[in-house]
Amino acid sequence: MTNHVKKVAVVSTGTVSIRPEHVETNGTPLLWWLTTSRSWTAPRPINVYVIEHERGLVLFDTGQDRRSVTDPGYFPGGVVGHNYRRLARFDIPKTATLTEQLKAVGYDIADVRVAILSHLHQDHIGGLSELPRTARVMTSAVELASVSKRFAVVNGLMRDHILIPGLDWVPITPQPVGDRSIAPFASAHDVMGDGSLLLLPTPGHTAGSMSLLMRSNGLPPMLFVGDLTYDADLLAADRVPCVGNRSGLHETTRAVNELVARHPGMPVLAAHDPAAATRLSAALAEAGVQR
Ligand SMILES: [Zn+2]
Repeated sequence: MTNHVKKVAVVSTGTVSIRPEHVETNGTPLLWWLTTSRSWTAPRPINVYVIEHERGLVLFDTGQDRRSVTDPGYFPGGVVGHNYRRLARFDIPKTATLTEQLKAVGYDIADVRVAILSHLHQDHIGGLSELPRTARVMTSAVELASVSKRFAVVNGLMRDHILIPGLDWVPITPQPVGDRSIAPFASAHDVMGDGSLLLLPTPGHTAGSMSLLMRSNGLPPMLFVGDLTYDADLLAADRVPCVGNRSGLHETTRAVNELVARHPGMPVLAAHDPAAATRLSAALAEAGVQR
């Protein structure tokens, strides 16, 4: 293992408030709490993980589009649009676009080489329109196929904001690998071809959701999990959110916990975990890495 990855940072494209029932299931079905819930969580981050690989910048997720709060036509109309607004409430200041957030940590969005999308919900695809057309956009083949299904928009997939003309999509199907160190996972996709960034299938939140395992000399190993959880402590306790497939979430959560047990101290970094940035800096500090 050599130093393929130089640095890791996290930025956030504004904040999102969601329903408490979204974070952890209370046993009621999604449609019930979506239509009846009266409370919102405190604002949570909309994280984009920024990985400086020796061959270019790699992003894990791209955040929420600022146009979703400035353009009244961003969301679908009718009942579907109403449900989008009941599901999440965004605050995205001018300085919270993907471009500005990358600039704030010293990067130029033009240097993004690969953008990985854990899945295709609105708060993960928001930066797509800002990416350079030279960037490769990776997501699971299963996830990408779901965009073109009927009623995709009801399931949180806004086709027009995803299938932007000119993007270089790379649909990923993790393949069986003989790497015992990623057990219980038996399949993966090697993003840069050097073993430093492995995409793992982690279905549950959506059928095509993927997580990213980062391993590189000089840095602690890290696992980026998208929306598998909204709080890594809940995940560690096998407590799952109320969005997606419940048994899939439990199965994947157990697999992730088994993987983490093999890499003691490895941070599990989610998209909307309020403690994610602290978990990242703590892991870097623990490993003696200067930020
Ligand atoms: Zn999300």
